Amino acid sequence: MLHRAHSLCDEEEGQKDEEVKLLSHAFISSGYNPKEVDRIIDSYVFDKPDNNTQAENRTDTLCIPYVRRKNVIYKIPCATCDFLYVGETSHWFDERESQHKRSMRNCDSNNGIYMHIANHPDHTIAWEKTTFLDYDRNFYARRMKESFYIDIF
Ligand SMILES: [Zn+2]
Repeated sequence: MLHRAHSLCDEEEGQKDEEVKLLSHAFISSGYNPKEVDRIIDSYVFDKPDNNTQAENRTDTLCIPYVRRKNVIYKIPCATCDFLYVGETSHWFDERESQHKRSMRNCDSNNGIYMHIANHPDHTIAWEKTTFLDYDRNFYARRMKESFYIDIF
């Protein structure tokens, strides 16, 4: 969402500041720590790479599926419909994936992926099409980014 605010408003600095301010208020009122929100938004807005080469490298790294990574925000699609599960983890992704699969075997109704299959028993989860959307070592940042992506998809 922040990236969207950023790219939509490149030529209208004032409006961009307003959107960033609104976003930060939204996150603070949803219970995020205000200091963390400021730090994360600052890092988004001011530490963006200036040249395209850096940006491209970053995208390449983020789009490699199924490598052993931790601190990621990931997306797992349904092979049958448009359902996407967006989640984050501080652990190695393959361990988190095993947890999801265990939750499905245990019919864990707190698990979003299990609930999709419970409601649509003829659907299949495309585990092999999992992609990483982003990563961050900071818990608050990961949760915020997860919210951005849930909002986008
Ligand atoms: Zn489905």
